[in-house]
Amino acid sequence: MINKTGINIDLKDRVALVTGSSSGLGMEIAKYLAKSGATVAIHYHSQKQPADQVANEINSNGGKAKVFGGDVSNRAEVESIFKSIDVELGPLDILVNNAGIDGKRQLCGEDNPDDWENVIAVDLMGPYYCAREAVKRMKKAGHGVIINITSVHEYIPWSGYTAYSSAKAGLSMFTKTLAQEVSELGIRVVSVAPGAIKTPINKDVWGNPTTSKDLMTKISMPRMGETSDIAEAVAFMASDMASYITGTTLVVDGGMLLYPAFKHGG
Ligand code: NAD
Repeated sequence: MINKTGINIDLKDRVALVTGSSSGLGMEIAKYLAKSGATVAIHYHSQKQPADQVANEINSNGGKAKVFGGDVSNRAEVESIFKSIDVELGPLDILVNNAGIDGKRQLCGEDNPDDWENVIAVDLMGPYYCAREAVKRMKKAGHGVIINITSVHEYIPWSGYTAYSSAKAGLSMFTKTLAQEVSELGIRVVSVAPGAIKTPINKDVWGNPTTSKDLMTKISMPRMGETSDIAEAVAFMASDMASYITGTTLVVDGGMLLYPAFKHGG
């Protein structure tokens, strides 16, 4: 696919799994990888219908997609997703660990530890379970790319979200350590860290004029990110154009990490 800057991203003959691709970023990433030529495993947790819609759209536009369901925080379910992909689509070349939750805003000590554990289970254990299944297969093939969707909160502390920030920072270190471990096997492992991108996960923020205005003070560029901003970054990282990039994070945040409060001096 020729992207908006005229660059041709070619993922022909690659099989990709995008976890949590029935909504938000995952949905856009799945569609973009398919347009770039990849066969895509659309994955959902609880809502099959939107996953079917994404797959139908891809298939009716000449691409190839199939739907797989399961909870990424459940190891047995992850193993079963990968076995089904082996049978239905063939060996996996690209894994995008996108599924994630931010959890409820709770201050430490006033929180429910079950909620904390659940965020860690989905956002850190989930990518680990998926990556270990992917590595087993990619090792045999002698190539593969694993892309972990982290967040600016792998760097920026976020009060009320200790579990989410800890999971994303942990996932970033998982990226680096795994990249080191598999670098001689032809497997690359990278992170893509989105800033504030308009999706269902943060609708309560961008859907409210007061919190939306506050959010804009935290972004250097005068806009929120679009799902396509992330999909393009992921497709690039998955492609051979990024063949010498491993163990690092590509931040796609419109300058959220630039301390925008200092923009006007002070
Ligand atoms: P979203 O809520 O639209 O998507 C999250 C997806 O994860 C959904 O498809 C959901 O079904 C899936 N999921 C949740 N729990 C699951 C489980 N137990 N098993 C399997 N799948 C599960 O939100 P999004 O914004 O598209 O988020 C996608 C990823 O991007 C997340 O990892 C999120 O942390 C990250 N992210 C998003 C933003 C943003 O501004 N939107 C910023 C930084 C990072």
